[in-house]
Amino acid sequence: MNWDRFSEEEREILERLDHHARLLAGRFGLPLAHLTRESGRVKRRYGSCDVNGVIRLRLHDRRNGAFLKYSSLIATLCHELAHLKHLNHGIRFRALYMQILEYARAAGIYRPRAVISPGKDDPGREAREATPGGSPPAAARR
Ligand SMILES: [Zn+2]
Repeated sequence: MNWDRFSEEEREILERLDHHARLLAGRFGLPLAHLTRESGRVKRRYGSCDVNGVIRLRLHDRRNGAFLKYSSLIATLCHELAHLKHLNHGIRFRALYMQILEYARAAGIYRPRAVISPGKDDPGREAREATPGGSPPAAARR
């Protein structure tokens, strides 16, 4: 299978994500160069970023192949955007990640409540689940 080929649905999602990514990167002064999807062969992580400012997001659920929820993609995007400034999962990284997520929520970009069933009154839950906190790629380590 040729993973360089994007389906129409993938292109639509990536265009929407790219629009939001640029908005958030601009607001927080983050050096985003390019947003694309993770190779379909990558199973373990939800997203990655490298020192050149390229962010890759996995669009599909690895169990059933369905597209991930947009709110999950946004949460992962915010996580990777924060890595453009902090290449670790330290306290400053987490503070920036929460700031970006809060801004995205206020701007109507991140809407976890739209997909969390009533009763589970914990909008941060999905963000935590969507970002298992894998190590940054080797290229990003300093
Ligand atoms: Zn991370």
